[in-house]
Amino acid sequence: MVSVYTSWPWITLYLHLCYVLNPGVAQTAKEVVLLDSKAQQTELEWISYPPNGWEEISGLDESYTPIRTYQVCRVMEPNQNNWLRTNWIEKRNAQRIFVELKFTLRDCNSLPGMVGTCKETFNLYYQETDSEVGRSMQETQYVKIDTIAADESFTQGDLGERKMKLNTEVRIIGPLSRQGFYLAFQDVGACIALVSVKVYYKKCWSIIENLTIFPDTVTGSEFSSLVEVEGICVNNAEEEADNSPKMHCSAEGEWLVPIGKCICKAGFHQKGDACEPCGRGYYKTSSQDLQCSRCPMHSFVDREGSRRCDCDDGYYRAFSDPPSAACTRPPSAPQNLVYNINQTMLSLEWNPPADTGGRNDVTYRVRCQHCSWEPEECKPCGPNVGYFPAQSQLVDTYVNVVDLLAHANYTFEVEAVNGVSDLSRTQRLFATVSIATGQAAPSMVGEVIKEKVQQRSIQLSWQEPRQLNGAITEYEIKYYKKDQKDRTYSTVRAKSTSATVNNLKPSTAYVFQIRAFTQAGYGTFGPRMEITTKEEETAAIVSSEQNPVIIIAVVAVAGTIILVFMVFGFIIGRRHCGYSKADQEGDEELYFQFKIPGSKSYIDPETNEDPNRAVHQFAKELDASYVQIERVLGAGQFGEVCSGRLKVPGKRDAAVAIKTLKVGHTEKQKKDFLCEASIMGQFDHPNVVHLEGVVTRGKPVMIVTEFMENGSLDAFLRIHDGQFTIIQLVGMLRGIASGMRYLADMGYVHRNLAARNVLVNSNLVCKVSDFGLSRTINDDPEAVYSTTGGKISVRWTAPEAIQFRKFTSASDVWSYGVVMWEVMSFGERPYWDMSNQDVMKALEESYRLPAPMDCAPGLHQLMLDCWKKDRGERPKFDQIISILDKMIRNPNTLKSPVGTCTSPLLGQSLSNVSAFHSVEEWLVAIKMERYRDNLTAAGYISLESVARMSTEDVVRLGITQVEHQKRLMSSIQTMRARMFHLHHTGVQV
Ligand code: ADP
Repeated sequence: MVSVYTSWPWITLYLHLCYVLNPGVAQTAKEVVLLDSKAQQTELEWISYPPNGWEEISGLDESYTPIRTYQVCRVMEPNQNNWLRTNWIEKRNAQRIFVELKFTLRDCNSLPGMVGTCKETFNLYYQETDSEVGRSMQETQYVKIDTIAADESFTQGDLGERKMKLNTEVRIIGPLSRQGFYLAFQDVGACIALVSVKVYYKKCWSIIENLTIFPDTVTGSEFSSLVEVEGICVNNAEEEADNSPKMHCSAEGEWLVPIGKCICKAGFHQKGDACEPCGRGYYKTSSQDLQCSRCPMHSFVDREGSRRCDCDDGYYRAFSDPPSAACTRPPSAPQNLVYNINQTMLSLEWNPPADTGGRNDVTYRVRCQHCSWEPEECKPCGPNVGYFPAQSQLVDTYVNVVDLLAHANYTFEVEAVNGVSDLSRTQRLFATVSIATGQAAPSMVGEVIKEKVQQRSIQLSWQEPRQLNGAITEYEIKYYKKDQKDRTYSTVRAKSTSATVNNLKPSTAYVFQIRAFTQAGYGTFGPRMEITTKEEETAAIVSSEQNPVIIIAVVAVAGTIILVFMVFGFIIGRRHCGYSKADQEGDEELYFQFKIPGSKSYIDPETNEDPNRAVHQFAKELDASYVQIERVLGAGQFGEVCSGRLKVPGKRDAAVAIKTLKVGHTEKQKKDFLCEASIMGQFDHPNVVHLEGVVTRGKPVMIVTEFMENGSLDAFLRIHDGQFTIIQLVGMLRGIASGMRYLADMGYVHRNLAARNVLVNSNLVCKVSDFGLSRTINDDPEAVYSTTGGKISVRWTAPEAIQFRKFTSASDVWSYGVVMWEVMSFGERPYWDMSNQDVMKALEESYRLPAPMDCAPGLHQLMLDCWKKDRGERPKFDQIISILDKMIRNPNTLKSPVGTCTSPLLGQSLSNVSAFHSVEEWLVAIKMERYRDNLTAAGYISLESVARMSTEDVVRLGITQVEHQKRLMSSIQTMRARMFHLHHTGVQV
């Protein structure tokens, strides 16, 4: 406690400083002081006017430090006007100035004999100037800040109680526009002691926050103003993307509202308010990562501040590998490479490498070398060899190689490759096999030349096939009249590369095709050649009724004739299981006429009196104990279909499918059940499901076939929608066509070819299945009774078969076209949800299915060819195969540029077809405009894209009301039908 004694003679003023400095108003770190009277111990020398008014007096503060004060107490005299002015105060860069006054003030009532002249307030003024203006004072130049009154004045009691209460008042001035200012105090007759005057402004002091430096910042001029300040990142830090760091300096000198931040650069991590480099063995790829990470496996770094680690010797990182991935190396060689040769077709299979190099992107590539016998010298096989599914980037561990030369030596190298194989310079590791091909049918004959064209004969010559694949024993020349109504072929055979065809009609166009024959069978026919015979000379008219189809078989072996009779015998007596009237006519009959000894034909088991004997004629009886049932796959028509194993002693175990005949069956059911085995048992082809045997002597009766791991093709494609490449799909189609060619060559008409009747094994090989129509068709959910009797799967069946029961290999070709469509659309239902009636009507009016999405135009053309109304114009399976092979060899032909090929109709603007011009208009028309945003957001902005939507797509849009889903789908289907119609007729509906 300190008492300050005033020197006034008539008033003794004690400044009884019994206060504690208020920490709230004391100078804190936010304040910059411009004037502090207490800090000065020498005289302040402010200007006092008149000179007998304010008086500078020395005192001591609570810590006995001398201070300077000003006092005035002229309460006894009226009309006081005493001014006190500070020295000039430079404002620096302050905008808002705080003036803190500490003073004591005497209570007028406490003054004895006081008259009305005593006051209890004083006035505070300021004057702005750019520099000091001398010591003269003019009242009018001052701007009043406030009248200051004491919160508490003091009274004069006993000396001991004379407590002088110290008042603290703070006033704010600003914004200021000059360089500095003076403060002035006007007394009008009070008793005041001005203990201290402090002038300061506030500022936000530099800080580091979020790795950002914010510099010292003076507060704004207004009480509420926030000054926005851009920060600067500390060393080795960078601004977070799109988010440069800012803070706001409040009027109170506080940092508020941080926005954005800095983060340590790649190679650095945060420690306190700084970014430090990652240590050795650690890396940080991006500023986004928080911490440095330890180098991944097989990598290292021996410097500080690294963004990534380097791979150990012999290890690599693929371009697509992130820096966090372990370094890897090429895989070891594939294991257990085995092969199987069938004539000139080779299948290779292997096991994955023991070491994948630490990666899971292992694929395989195959290198083929053609080697001469003696001396062994090998050359690359070149582009004539075909690989299925591909030569490189094989995901599965098998490949089929076709079109090898017959009787040739080859070496195949299979290499496992992964993402870093091409980066590595270490030696490649292969699995190798050397093989020799067997016999094979010859390739197509070379160019055909018309040597001599007469009225009734034509002489032809041709070049040998490019690949003989053995000794050619004869050539077959097939010919027919170009514009005949019933298509019948005639055939002539020749030993050498020329032949004369006689008995032709004059001035008639004929079409010729030639193929070669070796021990290994027939090659494919060469291209058709059209030749017109010479005009008839009027004099030499020969009977025009002469039948040209008198065939001159150059090799007219007696055996052939016998065979002709034998086969005719079959045709006449021929019955399908359950179908008695369905004959094969047309092409097939003629085909049969010239079946040569050695090539097998299918025999209808129904021709056998005793069906049980028929089964054993074609199917092996298996001991029931060899068959081990493991799992039920599903229900067949006659009983359960199971998977299991066949363990024939002395043979390798095989995975098999087992169809069982349920107990309590009738004799007829047993006969129908086994009928399939009797048919299947006659076939032996890689694309036809293979029969292992039957169990008829045990219970239950079983049919055992090879196991097809992936089940039915239609379901398989639906599950893997969009997951196969076009080449893979075409590979599957080729397999099916190859199986069908075999069946057609055998004289077997399938009648119910559909994707659901094709099975797929684990290597994606497709095999034709479901034989014995009566039993399979009754079981087929697609089949309906036709008007001509019998059940038919309308969507897959050719019109002539539906209408006249004309089932031929040509009607199988029609079904094959539908299978092509199913495959290319990943199991879409043909003709969607049109009714069978509508499908038949549409076909009759020449409508055909449009190309599935992303289907190459060539493939769709092939489908359309399969669906020619005139069955004679449909391609044969061997033509289909060669078209597919060509496509596979030139994958460019399979590309469908997005948006162009999908189908001709989708290429044109739908607004021509549709009643609407935009998605918007369409939605309005069907009162569904509320979904406009859903469609737009999902990218359906054109009618073309809307027309491709499926129900799932509609549901995916977030349209939950079933009724709305239905309304949209039915309108989309109408739109599709219009497109479908336009595509085939060019007429708008
Ligand atoms: P059924 O003709 O007796 O009615 P299916 O031939 O239709 O019997 O076969 C019923 C189901 O069993 C098929 O859809 C298929 O998924 C499965 N299946 C049939 N044969 C095999 C097989 N060889 N391998 C694997 N699954 C098969």
